[in-house]
Amino acid sequence: MEGLDGLKNLLQTPQRVVITTHHKPDGDALGSTLALYHHLKAAGHKVSVVSPTDYPEFLFWLPGEKDVINFEKQTDYSEYLVGDADVIFCLDFNKLHRINELGNVIEKSQAIRVLIDHHQEPDDFAQYKLHRVTASSTAELVYEFLVYLQGKESITKDIATCLYTGILTDTDRFRVSTTSPNVHRIVADLIEQGADHLYIYQQIYETFPEYKLRFFGFCISERMEIHPELRTGIIWVETADIKRFGIRTGDTEGLVNFPLQLGIVELAVIIIQRPDQVKMSFRSKGVVDVNALARDHFEGGGHRNAAGGKSKVNVQDTKRDLISILARRKNEIFKE
Ligand code: 5GP
Ligand code: MN
Repeated sequence: MEGLDGLKNLLQTPQRVVITTHHKPDGDALGSTLALYHHLKAAGHKVSVVSPTDYPEFLFWLPGEKDVINFEKQTDYSEYLVGDADVIFCLDFNKLHRINELGNVIEKSQAIRVLIDHHQEPDDFAQYKLHRVTASSTAELVYEFLVYLQGKESITKDIATCLYTGILTDTDRFRVSTTSPNVHRIVADLIEQGADHLYIYQQIYETFPEYKLRFFGFCISERMEIHPELRTGIIWVETADIKRFGIRTGDTEGLVNFPLQLGIVELAVIIIQRPDQVKMSFRSKGVVDVNALARDHFEGGGHRNAAGGKSKVNVQDTKRDLISILARRKNEIFKE
């Protein structure tokens, strides 16, 4: 916990704290945020959680979720809280523009900023940083931070539940390469502290509404293209598909992973027509670096095996551009 002693001292006395995380928070974003929220509240601080946007229904059961303030719906109140804060924690994102308008509000505030994150190449906007790209999740870093602040005993059942959710989802169920021995040690602690791992798994992965599973089936059969020569699988989703199945925020989460089940596929991409933009997600196996691909061509980034980005052209043109980029950079991307 190098360089964090000043922050630890500051947190010895009650502070007004705002915790925020990235646009359309996922399990790690919301799990790590709510874990920190429970901890700081119990330590006597005045704490608010402000999310830049809404988030998927499969996270609505998380302890403390009802206290989250949505910046898009409660903009004035969010701006007041940020303006009034002594300390602002920025969790699971590396650039202020990743949180839309809320980024500008935070940039203007006088508060001390703290970054806790594991994405590559973070911007320099925080006085205190707990950042490690090899961490499986922001939840892993928050776990270390809470133990540093007040020891393992301070991890309550609610905190353990939120942290377990972050680690489970960001490691894609302990599947990706960041799932280190240390991750398993932390997870063992979390279960001992009361995280009900069977319940959490069910809440996240086994509560699909029927239309969502049918939508996944449709996409796999009608909207998936496999390019063996590029070791790539691409899924695309048009506005008409979203309307037809009644798809909502978060319903597409996890769909991008399906092409990776094929032996010949090392790179999977999903291209989705959202109301305001074309959103892309990238997932890969092994050494295939999707962070570089998203950063260089699709205004995005993330991690080596999971990244996101966007495109300015429509879904079909994005797909065509992607294929030509992959054909051109094949040797470099697949490390041949
Ligand atoms: P997803 O595909 O689930 O949206 O994102 C995968 C990973 O990449 C997540 O860790 C997410 O935070 C990150 N990510 C997604 N979109 C962007 C983006 O536009 N810029 C950056 N820097 N990271 C992103
Ligand atoms: Mn994360």
